[in-house]
Amino acid sequence: MTDRQSRYFVPGPTWVRPEILAEMTRPMMGHRSAEFREVFRRVKGDLKSLFRTTQDAFVSTSSGTGVLEGALLNVVPRRVLVTTCGAFSERWKTIAEQTGVEVDHLDHPWGEAIDPERLATHFAGRRHHYDAVTITHNETSTGVMNDLRALVEVIHAETSDTLILVDAVSSLGSAPILFDEWGIDVCIASTQKGLALPPGLAVFAVSERALAAAKKKPYRGTYFDFLEYKRQGDNDGAPFTPSIPHYFALEKQLDHILREETLDERWERHRKMRDMTLERTAGYAELMSDRTHASVSVSALRPTKRDAQTILSEMRARGFVLGGGYGRWKEESFRIGHMGDISLVALSAMLDVLEEAAQ
Ligand code: PLP
Repeated sequence: MTDRQSRYFVPGPTWVRPEILAEMTRPMMGHRSAEFREVFRRVKGDLKSLFRTTQDAFVSTSSGTGVLEGALLNVVPRRVLVTTCGAFSERWKTIAEQTGVEVDHLDHPWGEAIDPERLATHFAGRRHHYDAVTITHNETSTGVMNDLRALVEVIHAETSDTLILVDAVSSLGSAPILFDEWGIDVCIASTQKGLALPPGLAVFAVSERALAAAKKKPYRGTYFDFLEYKRQGDNDGAPFTPSIPHYFALEKQLDHILREETLDERWERHRKMRDMTLERTAGYAELMSDRTHASVSVSALRPTKRDAQTILSEMRARGFVLGGGYGRWKEESFRIGHMGDISLVALSAMLDVLEEAAQ
C-alpha cells in the first residue's frame, strides 16, 4: 500500500502527506532558542492568515478538547449558552457543566443544523445575560456544517457583549472562516482534520475582546491560560515546552496551504469532494444530515442495500479505511472523511471501490 495517495477516509485523524511526516524527524532544538523563535514567528504569522485575523493566534500542544475547555475557563465567569446538534456540540455542553458555570442549551435533533431563527428567538426571550455562546461549526458526528456566518450575525444583532466561541475542529482549512470579518472571539481547531497534520496540536485565534474578558477572570486554569499564551506569544515563545516536531510539520503545512494550494483553492477542493461524495453514493446510501447543510469535510451515510458494518469490513478487505457511524448512529451508518489533503483523484478511486462493496 502506497502512502503517496490516501486509502484512509476517516473524519480524522486524516491522511498526512509523507513530506509532512518527514518534517517531524528534523533535529531537535531548544524551545527558548533563537532558531525556535524563528519557527514560532513564521507559524504565528501564517496562523493569522489561516484564521483571517490580525488579532492573536496560538498553538497548543494538546488536542482541541483542551482548548475547548480552556476557552470556557478563560472567558465565562457565570453563564454560557451552548448550541447543540450532535455528539461534539453536546460534549462541549458537558465540558461547560464540568467547569461549574451555569449552562443553558439550545438543542437541535441530530442531523439538523442550528437554526439562526431559533437562535434569534432564544436570544430575544432570554432571561439571563450570557458571557458567551458556543457554536460547533462542523458537527463531525452527523456531517452537518452549520452556517457559522449567519449564526454569528444573529448573535451580533442581539447582543454586543456576549462572546462567540467556535469549535472549528473539523472545519478549519476545509471551509471559510473569516475570524475578524465575521466577529468571532475564540476559534479552535485540532490539526488532525482539515489541516492534515498528525494529531497532538490545536490552533486557536483569540479576539481582543476575549483577552479583555480573560483579564477580568481570576481563575483561568494554568495550562490554557490565554493571557500567558499572549504574554509569551508576543515574544515568539510558547508558555510551556511545546511538541517541537509538530511545530516543524505545522510550519511546512501552513506554507503549503497558504502559498502552494491557497485557501480559496482548498475550500473549493473540499466543496468538490463533498459534491462528488453525495453524487456518487446516492444510488446506495441516504445522507443522514440535512442536505442543505451537508458538510464539506465529512458525510454520514445510511446504506440502503447492505448493512453498514458489512460495507466497512468489505472496504477494509480491499485496503480502504472508512469511518464508522458515531454514537447512537453507530450501527446504521458509516462516515466518509473527505478532508485535509485528500485529492479528488484519490476520493474518486475510493468511491469506485465503494460502489462495488455497497451493493
Ligand atoms: N469537536 C469536534 C467537532 C470534533 O470532531 C472533535 C473530534 O473529532 C472534537 C471536538 C475533539 O477534538 P480532539 O479529539 O482533537 O480533542
